Amino acid sequence: MLASVASATLSGALGHPVSVEVHVSNGLPGFTIVGLPDAAVREARDRVRAAVLSSGLQWPMRRVTVNLAPSGLRKGGAGLDLPIAVGLLVATGELDPTCTEGIAFCGELGLNGALRHVPGMIALADATTVQRLVVPLCDVGEAQLVRGPIVHGVATLAQLASVLRGRASWPEVVLAKAEHRGPAPPDLADVRGQALGRRALEVAAAGKHHLLMIGPPGSGKTMLAERLPGLLPPLDPDEALTVTRIHSAAGCALPDGVLLDRAPFRAPHHQASIVSLVGGGSWSFRPGEVSLATHGILFLDELGEFPVAALEALRQPLEEGVIRVSRAGGTVTFPASFLLVAAMNPCPCGEGVYEGACRCSIVSRSRYGRRLSAPLLDRFDLVVALSRPDPEDLLSPVPGEPSSKVAARVALARARVRTAPQGREPLPPSSDAKVLLAAKLRSGELSARGLHKVSLVAQTVATLDGEDTVSFAHVSEALALRGGRAVVAA
Ligand SMILES: [Zn+2]
Repeated sequence: MLASVASATLSGALGHPVSVEVHVSNGLPGFTIVGLPDAAVREARDRVRAAVLSSGLQWPMRRVTVNLAPSGLRKGGAGLDLPIAVGLLVATGELDPTCTEGIAFCGELGLNGALRHVPGMIALADATTVQRLVVPLCDVGEAQLVRGPIVHGVATLAQLASVLRGRASWPEVVLAKAEHRGPAPPDLADVRGQALGRRALEVAAAGKHHLLMIGPPGSGKTMLAERLPGLLPPLDPDEALTVTRIHSAAGCALPDGVLLDRAPFRAPHHQASIVSLVGGGSWSFRPGEVSLATHGILFLDELGEFPVAALEALRQPLEEGVIRVSRAGGTVTFPASFLLVAAMNPCPCGEGVYEGACRCSIVSRSRYGRRLSAPLLDRFDLVVALSRPDPEDLLSPVPGEPSSKVAARVALARARVRTAPQGREPLPPSSDAKVLLAAKLRSGELSARGLHKVSLVAQTVATLDGEDTVSFAHVSEALALRGGRAVVAA
């Protein structure tokens, strides 16, 4: 007998509807799954069999063929366990075919018949084309985040069977809405001194400028970077859904029943694999760090230590805001639009020439500088050289300006850009600002590309100041905020 059950599978951060067909026929007992299953789906046979038997249901001593349609789409993950089990119970006559009409099923089965969490439930629920969706109890909150099917949660296969047979009603799920979405990012009030670093963060946050910080160990590069999320405005509903969907697809733990609405902060280690950075995997596609940082910050500490291949892989996301991952299983496009913040020591020993304590040879110093290719360096609108904070600043009892105040200025600046009339000309430079830029171009300190970058940053500085023209002071500050390039070139 043949049964067909609706479900969905995850490809990248998007779900696709899948129809699970189960055919039970006479012949040698066996169990075959066709329709491009990955390793996890192929193993469904063993989990489904154990779950059916431990739920007190019948396992047929007949030939079972499972087809996952459409056959051209790769099916990944263990979320197809549940629809396969339900299809089998319908095909063997344990369940009436009418009781699964208009219902889709997603869930992994434990050997004892318990339903387990499936990554990417938001995308799976979104892809569901029928009216109702049955998921593990723990996934109800996530599945309900999209406006789609009516979601039912069940704990075990046995419980589901008795509901579908009409002997019990759907269990009521009481969602405890998460009180908070994880710990708040650390506050800028903890940072003493560091006027240039603090200003660079504010300008980066206001104008979405990529930022490179160069300084010796102890100059507070990481401390500053970690405080950038606290300066960014909360995500709007569309951004929050995208971010939550990506984190759900990556299998990250999510707060119950609420979208992630804070800018994510991802800080992959320089020894992280390329796959973990850009996403992928041999069969199932998982989003990488560049996608998990979408609408937030990708922080690369010790930029000079990252392998060239890893830095090359950043090129596409930085240019297009997406990353395309190609594997044997096909190609998947993930969102990957982030603010890049990087930190590096000025030289291998860390002290740098301008600190006067560098122990590096000229050769090793120039080799270190060359590791950072010119195209990558050009990505950073802001390049600041930081030194260790002044002891007097560190000992001062006065805390730094808190993140909330800086965030308010950032929000105001962003609102000014957003509410500006469409197609608005960039803010015009004042005449002395033009003279300054021309002088820098003539002396060769600025290239044509550099001029463009400085102009963009000067616009942001002027917008933060709430002014309608770019003044001499704005351009000077923009130039100072890329002054760290001289350190890399040295
Ligand atoms: Zn050195």
